[in-house]
Amino acid sequence: MNLIFLGPPGSGKGTQAERISKLLGIAHLSTGDMLRESVARKTSLGQKAQEYMETGELVPDDLILGMIEEKLCSGGWEHGFILDGFPRTIRQAEALKKMIAKNEKEIDKAILLSVSDAEVMRRLSGRFYCPTCKIGYNYPMRLPRQKEHCDFDNTKLVRRPDDEITVVRNRLEVYKRETAPLIDFYRKELILSEIETDDGPDKVTEQLLKEIGKAKKSDSYKDRCPN
Ligand code: ADP
Repeated sequence: MNLIFLGPPGSGKGTQAERISKLLGIAHLSTGDMLRESVARKTSLGQKAQEYMETGELVPDDLILGMIEEKLCSGGWEHGFILDGFPRTIRQAEALKKMIAKNEKEIDKAILLSVSDAEVMRRLSGRFYCPTCKIGYNYPMRLPRQKEHCDFDNTKLVRRPDDEITVVRNRLEVYKRETAPLIDFYRKELILSEIETDDGPDKVTEQLLKEIGKAKKSDSYKDRCPN
C-alpha cells in the first residue's frame, strides 16, 4: 500500500502518518523530518534548505527530488509507504510517479486531510515539542504534566521556528498556491479521498483506516481505470 497524505500545515499529516505506518507496518517518509535532520546535521542539503524552511517557502524541487530519490533507492519501503509532506508541487508529483514506476509500483491512494485556516492557526500556535525525545504537545489538548517540560525526560519544550505566526501565514499561502493543485491532479488519477479533521485525532485515524481498507479491496490499477 503506497499512500500520500496531503493537506495544509497543521492538518495532522505527521501525527496520522506515524500512527498508520505503525499499524500497517509500512514506511513513513516525511520530507519535513528529513530536511530538519539535514539542517541539524549541517549537511550541504541542510544548509541550502534552511533559509527556505525558516520563511515557510518551499525548498527547490531539484533538492527535494534528489533527497527522495536517494531515500527510495536505499529501500525499506517494499511493503509500502506513507509520504507525508511530499509531493508538494505538480512537478514533484510527476517525478514521483516516474520514480516508483521504475520499481513497477504505483500510488494507491492520496488522502487529503482538510482543515480550516482558523483551525490551522489555532493548532500551530499551541504546538510544542521535546527536542530530546521529539514527543509533541498541544495546548490546550495535550498539556505536559509540568508546565513547559517534557513528561518523559523533563527537557524544556520548544516550538518549531516555522510555527511563528507570520511564517505559518506564509506556509498557508504557499500551500494554496503550490500544493493545493495536487488535489485536482490526484482527483483526475481517481485516487483522491478527503477526510475532515475536526473531530480529533482518534476519529481521523479510524476514518483513514476505513479509506485505506476500501483502497485495498480494489487495488489493481485496472479496477479504477475509467477506460
Ligand atoms: P508542514 O507542517 O508545513 O506540512 P513539514 O514538516 O512537512 O511542514 O515541512 C516543513 C518545511 O520543509 C516546509 O515549509 C518546506 O520549507 C520544507 N519542505 C518539506 N517538504 C517539502 C517538499 N516536498 N518540497 C519543498 N519543500 C518542502
